[in-house]
Amino acid sequence: MLAAAMNPINLKATHVTGQPLCFMVNSSDDAQTPHLVDLSRNEGNGYCTCKDFQVRCSSNIKQQKEKYNGKFRRIDYIMLEQTELILDGSKKKHYVIAKPNPNRTLCKHIHAARQKWCNVTLKDISIELNQDQD
Ligand SMILES: [Zn+2]
Repeated sequence: MLAAAMNPINLKATHVTGQPLCFMVNSSDDAQTPHLVDLSRNEGNGYCTCKDFQVRCSSNIKQQKEKYNGKFRRIDYIMLEQTELILDGSKKKHYVIAKPNPNRTLCKHIHAARQKWCNVTLKDISIELNQDQD
């Protein structure tokens, strides 16, 4: 059995009223200055006002587009690292969250906003699909 590592990113994402794909996400460095995330930008990869997105993520997107004829692959903020774990006397693959991925196209704020959007959307759709069954 694989042991699941907990996501170390625990940032609060709040929907921007009237903008279904925009979120304000608190900064881990400065609680007074949240970052604006727009998930509709960059073909659904998202855009963020933070320095990490402006410098590293945007650069990674641009480099990929130059390398792959205008296309790029979304790469998450966190990078899983495979290790081995001895469980019940046998070796098992074990994944731990290692560090921010240097090739990321998502900053941690976009990661948090995507999780929030997914959770809210799944809840809304499941309520709608199951409303006649209660
Ligand atoms: Zn960000």
